[in-house]
Amino acid sequence: MKAKKLDLVTAFRFNVNVQNYIDLAKKNGVELIDTGKCQFCGANVKRGIHECVEIFSVGFQEIDYSATTNHKFIFLIADAHTLQHPEIHGRWSNHFHLTRLHLVFEYKIKWQYQFSPVLSKCLNEYKTKKQDEYLASPPPLKRGNLTTTDIKEKSDDAEECKLIIENWAKEVYESWQVNYLTVNKIAQQFLEKNK
Ligand SMILES: [Zn+2]
Repeated sequence: MKAKKLDLVTAFRFNVNVQNYIDLAKKNGVELIDTGKCQFCGANVKRGIHECVEIFSVGFQEIDYSATTNHKFIFLIADAHTLQHPEIHGRWSNHFHLTRLHLVFEYKIKWQYQFSPVLSKCLNEYKTKKQDEYLASPPPLKRGNLTTTDIKEKSDDAEECKLIIENWAKEVYESWQVNYLTVNKIAQQFLEKNK
């Protein structure tokens, strides 16, 4: 596999998502298992969640992330991995990532970097009225069948890799279905702002 350097924005995006995951798991009262398959998604790794996060943070390098048309895969990867591992993120991350997937899959929004701060703003406004709201996460290992190791296996071929990332994100999105009505409210706010 050719080693391609991530552009700064991409690197930043992935780093933001992986930092402090051990602390966040502790805060969420979840014990991380250091060996065997990933306890959350079932990825076929040897060092559990740590190896799963490593594969995710390297970011499937065969895709040329500098091309604008490929930016959507950065968002899909971040959304799919976060929602497959909600125990290592803050709870409002679920709202953000699920709403983004909802906008992408339900409303066919072609996501761009400048949309993310707009969605964050909508979410912040929503939060003030819904302080106690939690999304119902599907149980571990029931958040889509595809995992980081499946994507890694296909990562030598950019086109195949992109296809499987799209399917990965779709499967994860579908597993969170009971929350669609909730995130649709945030999505509506976003669509209002982007008219
Ligand atoms: Zn995993």
